[in-house]
Amino acid sequence: MNTLITFSDLRAARLSLKGTVGLVPTMGYLHEGHLSLIKRAKEECKHVIVSIFVNPTQFGPNEDLSKYPRDLERDLSLITPLGVDLVWTPTAEVMYPSGYQTWVEVEAMTQPLEGSMRPGHFKGVTTVVAKLFNASQPDKAYFGQKDAQQAAVIRQMTRDLNFPIEIVVCPTTREADGLAMSSRNKYLNEAERKAAVVLFRSLSAAKELYEDGERDAEKLRGKMKEVLAAEPLAQMQYVSCADYDSLEELSEIRGKALLSMAVFLGKTRLIDNFVLG
Ligand code: AMP
Repeated sequence: MNTLITFSDLRAARLSLKGTVGLVPTMGYLHEGHLSLIKRAKEECKHVIVSIFVNPTQFGPNEDLSKYPRDLERDLSLITPLGVDLVWTPTAEVMYPSGYQTWVEVEAMTQPLEGSMRPGHFKGVTTVVAKLFNASQPDKAYFGQKDAQQAAVIRQMTRDLNFPIEIVVCPTTREADGLAMSSRNKYLNEAERKAAVVLFRSLSAAKELYEDGERDAEKLRGKMKEVLAAEPLAQMQYVSCADYDSLEELSEIRGKALLSMAVFLGKTRLIDNFVLG
């Protein structure tokens, strides 16, 4: 396994890979969710590139960039047994050298949900992913359903910019109690960690209503809010029942829909979602 930092080293190493290449972009502090993406890439591609980069441009001024968990040594020890070819760990200076001024922006789809709560977030995500795509020239790129809007935005960008790359979206990996795995779960104290299962319970309750035949989106949003409100440590930021493709808020569910939410447990902001239909 080769660990590289610069664009020129990555390009040279990429040229030596013959056959299909899968890219798994991450911000590190890896957990089983990330590893499930790498394993899937390994199953489907001859070679796998993993990038580890805590991308400063996707963090807002009051977000957790400086305290985002990092442990490269541990990440490499988790990746090594999986048979990854290249690990790319660019620095912020490599990615955004002084004088940097080019951005990639997806429009309508980045306005609601995470986009409305985190202005500029997706501009940072699409810019860095476009740079990762350009540099590593993968055949397939792997993203998690955990970040549903991100996956939808990347799919749109890939189509719009004609990247010849298949976007593969992998299911959310969860802890035994249902909490979606996330590097940010590390911030939770014991009581918050216990309470954090409320996201899964709230989504499950709404899904149960849907499975019983409820198609009124407002009722599903109401059910999610009701379950969240019963957990004193949880502070809801938003709940949504939106069209799966456009991410527009629904009044009635006719096709595929996305239930999603952002919830604070103390200072830690968690997101989760279920797909319906
Ligand atoms: P991050 O390091 O948080 O930027 O995540 C890197 C990739 O892993 C993204 O495509 C995420 O959607 C994906 N991911 C994060 N958590 C999970 C999870 N629990 N299950 C599946 N994929 C995940």
